[in-house]
Formats: sequence, C-alpha cells, structure tokens
Amino acid sequence: MKKLLCCLSVLLSPVLLGIVCCAETPPFAGGRWIDLTQEYSSETIYWPTASGFVLEQEFCGATPKGYFYAANRYKASEHGGTHLDAPIHFAEGRKSVEQLPLEQLIGAAVVVDVSAKALKDADYRIEVADLKAWESAHGRIPRGAMVLLRTGYARYWPDAKKYLGTAEKGQAGVDNLHFPGLHPDAARWLVSERDIKAVGLDTASIDYGQSKLFEAHRVLCEREVLVFENVAALDKLPPTGAHVIALPMKIKGGSGSPLRIIAWVPAKPAK
Ligand SMILES: [Zn+2]
Repeated sequence: MKKLLCCLSVLLSPVLLGIVCCAETPPFAGGRWIDLTQEYSSETIYWPTASGFVLEQEFCGATPKGYFYAANRYKASEHGGTHLDAPIHFAEGRKSVEQLPLEQLIGAAVVVDVSAKALKDADYRIEVADLKAWESAHGRIPRGAMVLLRTGYARYWPDAKKYLGTAEKGQAGVDNLHFPGLHPDAARWLVSERDIKAVGLDTASIDYGQSKLFEAHRVLCEREVLVFENVAALDKLPPTGAHVIALPMKIKGGSGSPLRIIAWVPAKPAK
C-alpha cells in the first residue's frame, strides 16, 4: 500500500507542480500588447464612396434623478477605418463576418516591411520577390500565419490627401486614389504556395489605389483568406514572433466589419 501511494505521488507530482506553476504565472507575462487599431471618429478615413463614421449623442449629462448618464449612437460603412474584409466581400457564397471561426482570427504574425519602396512610389504593388526576400532573411512564412504588410503609409493617417492620394469624395475621389497594395501575383503566390489565415496592411485596400478589378481581393476572398485594412502601428512589431488577435464586430451577414486588432509581442520574440 505504501509502495502504491509512493508511486502515485511520483506520478502525480509533475501534474500538481504544473497546476501550481500555471496558477502562479499569468498568461501573456513577459511581453507587451500593441494596439494595431485606428480610432473611429469623424476623422477616420473611409473609401471615397462610403459613408464615414458618425457618432450622435443621445444623452450626456445629469439626469433629472441626479445621476450622470452618457450614451451615443453610431453609423458607418463596413469598410472604413481599421476593418476586416470577410470572404463574401468579393466571393459569392463565401463566409460573412459572423461565420468566421475564432481560430482564423488569432494567429502568429509575420511583418513584411516594404516601406522603403512603397513610400517612394504611391502606386507600388508588393511583389512575390518582396515576399521571397523576406523569407530569405527570416525563414519560410509559417503555416497558419497572418501576413502583415508594412507600407509605411500609417504615418499619414488621418490625412486623406497623403494616405489615399486624394481627399475628394465620390467617383472623382476613386479615380485619384494612389496608395500601395498587394500585387495579384503575390496574392496568388500566398494562397497557392503558402498556407496563411490572413493578410493585413496599413493602407485602405489590399489592392493598390489605382486597381480597377480588385484582383488581390478576389484571389484572397475566393480562398477564404481574411483581409485586414488600415492597420496601425506595424512599425512596433518585430518581423516574427508577434501574435495577433483580430476581432471584428459580429455583424450577421456582414461583408466586413470594424476590427479591434491587437498584437502580443513576447519579450524575446521567437525566431
Ligand atoms: Zn474592406
């Protein structure tokens, strides 16, 4: 009996130790959170043909009963500010926002910095060669990665003239859009040669401003790869090692949604 108890305690001690250790170490210790989300306000940049963000006050102040109360209502197009494109945005019959599995909204991020080229050329399209150059330096884009493309244009937010190339609204605005995006060939390469959950970038669209056919959108949506647009603060992330949580508003039937996207950067990013 003594022997049995002794064996049991030897077997159970690592388990018990594990429980004690886990209880004492808070999750996400030893790193920092980075907010990759732009604020929503009347300043927030939307597509020239979209409705901007409007916050209307319902009440703010002292009530007749003596307590303070504040409440607003808001309205906006789905595709503006920091937001997610659901696959149905450019692919009929594909998932809308509320159907996205949580596993696809959380993942390891790789950050591809193309700002040196993109800041010199507002019509720059990120090429397969840029992705391959990143892999030469940092290793193969891992399975299930979220590929975040840093063009450097977040520095112009919320100046639409600099960020979009135009502050005009309507079709005239669309005609004058100039900002970098992902080349359709690079989108095709990502979906066929790599296995990724999402692509994000710090411009208003995954297709560059002058795109007329939105091919990168169509390729990614068709393969149910998520798209994050108008992402902020990518300069704060390492090329590898960050973990991203990108939670959209759960709009039933939504083709896109405002997105609260944050990154966890461990103290020592894993290689
Ligand atoms: Zn969008």
